[in-house]
Amino acid sequence: MKRAGVSYFGVRIPRHARRDLEDIAARGYTAVLHTFSENDLAYYRGTMAEIVAASHELGLEVQMCPWGVGRTFGGEAESRWVTFHPEACQMLDDGRGVATGCLNNPAYRAFCKEWADAALEAGTDYVFWDEPHWTVPEHVGVDDPKRWACVCRVCAEVSGLDLSQGLTPEVEQFRERSIVDFLGEVTAHVASRGGKNTICLLPLTDGPHGVSDWDSVAALPHISVLATDPYWKNFDESADSFVGRFARLLAETTARHDVDAQMWLPSFGLTPDDIPDLEAAVAATRAAGIEDVWTWGYEACAHMTHLATPDSLLVWEAVTGALTEEERVATERARIDLRDLDLRPTAELVRLINDEDKTVAGAVAEAAESIARAIDSIVERLEAGGRLVYVGAGSSGRAVAADAAECGPTFSTDRIVAVTTEDEDAEDDTAAGPRDLAALAVGPQDIVLAVSASGHTPYTLAALDHAAGRGSRRRDRDRSRGRRGRGCNRRCRRRHQGGHRLAARRGGRTDCALSAHRRARRHPRGGRRCRGLRPSSESNLSHSSASSPRSRLTQRESSVLCCETTSATC
Ligand SMILES: [Zn+2]
Repeated sequence: MKRAGVSYFGVRIPRHARRDLEDIAARGYTAVLHTFSENDLAYYRGTMAEIVAASHELGLEVQMCPWGVGRTFGGEAESRWVTFHPEACQMLDDGRGVATGCLNNPAYRAFCKEWADAALEAGTDYVFWDEPHWTVPEHVGVDDPKRWACVCRVCAEVSGLDLSQGLTPEVEQFRERSIVDFLGEVTAHVASRGGKNTICLLPLTDGPHGVSDWDSVAALPHISVLATDPYWKNFDESADSFVGRFARLLAETTARHDVDAQMWLPSFGLTPDDIPDLEAAVAATRAAGIEDVWTWGYEACAHMTHLATPDSLLVWEAVTGALTEEERVATERARIDLRDLDLRPTAELVRLINDEDKTVAGAVAEAAESIARAIDSIVERLEAGGRLVYVGAGSSGRAVAADAAECGPTFSTDRIVAVTTEDEDAEDDTAAGPRDLAALAVGPQDIVLAVSASGHTPYTLAALDHAAGRGSRRRDRDRSRGRRGRGCNRRCRRRHQGGHRLAARRGGRTDCALSAHRRARRHPRGGRRCRGLRPSSESNLSHSSASSPRSRLTQRESSVLCCETTSATC
């Protein structure tokens, strides 16, 4: 199943959570995991139901995990239950009781099922059994990694083994068998209530916390999804080989049992230097055929001191681009530095808008040479009796229509006309642009000037192609660039280089919009991540002096597009 998911936690004010969930959905994610800790269980059950409902309203599938529950699952949350039930907790091999529920204790299993009931009542689509494990000594304040659990009375009875013998192969098998049995019981309970189960195994197949036989988990009758989370930095491993190894194990295991595979990758604790590793991890996951890919967690956990790095938000942009495979055009993207725009004072908003407006003059100055060339071409056509035909859709269309309307009374001319869309949906209609131009009998004597804030509007580009007599080839090329060409990862840099080669072919110029893009978007801290073109400040208008008899389409990566019409049919 193809999904892009992210974990979300820490916010329990529904209107704030909704705002973030809207952001998650807008970024192209299709699913969210909500942590559901014992604290939530005690104090936020109704609130969690509201947050789950908001997720569903936004079209997001929902998983809920027992975050830190009983300290037998993953998560930075504490357990109340272990405080109230020390008699049902695990015992280390040296006889010390530790604050972790015993996976074999019926009381603890009953509590886990109660927790699952609450998650289902909150409306979750999947119960996500995250990293089930026996107690890790350092997690309970025991500075002795050789200690292990559990040798409690229940475990002694269930195993039938002499647990004082140490961590023998038989004891290791008993511990693994206990985890599988525990999962079998709680997943059957969820299924009996109509819920679905995901089990996320630690990326370990040996040692005191590994599950050696993943088939035994995948074969459980009530599991829908098997997941793993090879967070390579936490295991001091390299990203592509570690993730690749577990992606293959996951894919092969799930295929044998007709269970879906789900991969979790970290965005917490990463820096810009880790982004290539992150991209390699995503690539290794997809190479194994896994398309259900999640990250922990929202905004790369920038809000959480323990998991954040100074550049969490840059990592968040990178992981989002990699998981959603959606790099939005500039006019549809949220700027990270302005993500709290709706919370800022009005006076600051006015100042910000004014500051952004100041960048327009600089962008126009950079493009002065090409603007002048375009104007000369327009004048040439007008003097020869042709028309200047504006094309635009939506707001751009209204802008060009206003300009064309203004030209009549101001310059006493009827040869400045505009072709625009009548409704907003038409901006994606590639047939409408050519049709509207044809209706005006636009011909070789005219010049067409297209305006698009994003530089990628299908209506406008199709009209431009029609005017240039280029057919659909150019549209396809531009469309692919529009969707994929805005990031500044390695793929993006390759495209920039390609753009410069194109510019050079047009006459050796390298001062195209792409170089301005790269200069403007170089990260101020020295990183290479950028946030895409801003439409108003980096638009460019260029005009070719090439002597192609067929077409003089010139613009490659800008917001104002201009061509001279040469086709006899347009
Ligand atoms: Zn026990």
